[in-house]
Amino acid sequence: MSVFTLSLRSGSSGNSTYIRTDSARIAVDCGMTGKQFALALRSIGEDAIAVDALLLTHEHIDHCSGIGVVMRRYGIPLYTTRSTFEGARDILGNINESLVNIIEPGKAFSIRDTVVLPFSVPHDASDPVGFRIYTAEGDVGVVTDLGHFSPEVKNSLDGCRVVYLEANFDPDLLESGLYPQFLKRRIAGSHGHLSNFDAGDAAVQLLHTGTEAFLLCHLSRDNNRPGLALKTVSERLLREGARAGRDYVINASPRYECSRVYHYRRTLPGQPKSLPSLHEESQITENYTQCTMAVPEIRGGDAGMAAKNYTQCTMAAQQNDSVLHLQDGESV
Ligand SMILES: [Zn+2]
Ligand SMILES: [Zn+2]
Repeated sequence: MSVFTLSLRSGSSGNSTYIRTDSARIAVDCGMTGKQFALALRSIGEDAIAVDALLLTHEHIDHCSGIGVVMRRYGIPLYTTRSTFEGARDILGNINESLVNIIEPGKAFSIRDTVVLPFSVPHDASDPVGFRIYTAEGDVGVVTDLGHFSPEVKNSLDGCRVVYLEANFDPDLLESGLYPQFLKRRIAGSHGHLSNFDAGDAAVQLLHTGTEAFLLCHLSRDNNRPGLALKTVSERLLREGARAGRDYVINASPRYECSRVYHYRRTLPGQPKSLPSLHEESQITENYTQCTMAVPEIRGGDAGMAAKNYTQCTMAAQQNDSVLHLQDGESV
């Protein structure tokens, strides 16, 4: 049995990440309508009524706007910290509180046979958490809103095979943009959001612990571009000698659509390493424009060649607000 995962929505207009392990169906956040949630799952052959758990990271509306309706409609249990639950109560509306499971950062819990670890993240909410979902095929980490990549976050994600990592803004775009100063300071602050450069530094640390897929998420519409985020993070990894397609896969989660579906299974001893890869049967892939190219021979550290090729990817990604995915044999 392989594990698969995708982003259903990503960004300040709504976030939801879906992970199916061999024993559980888990949605992290639901910042979308109940109908959108159900349709997004249906597009990959999943049924909202079969979801075992909703995990809520924090009470900001782009993460919890649909939680209440989905709980009412499908009777799905919610797992969140007490402060987050209190903070989100008005947004959730009238729900069956017996479905609410209060969790604590640092204390693992189980959904069916799947173990989940919530951990504190530095963000301007009451008690925000990220999640690590343990699977037999390798673990998935989700950190969508954080001001900096703290040692606690790093330790909690150590060894995760797949990580949804925030890459919220490009510092130059933020600085030159129209946001008021107080908001710029909040976003760039230590309890705001992660910049592309911060995400690149975090990715390097994660790479060294074994992360193979970096799924960039929560990209700002105004202060970022998918191609720019991908370029910044990939260049940082290239400086470590790590090449997309060979050592890891990377993509940027789209804002209003499902991302592609990644599936993966544990590489058995003696077998060649297999990176997480696209689920070929996915019905949603045609929504996306894939940016691929022939592989020029890039040796570690050849940033000039990388930059040249990135330009093409960046243009395609910017035009389509799309996904750049690098498969075996492809590079940037
Ligand atoms: Zn958010
Ligand atoms: Zn937030």
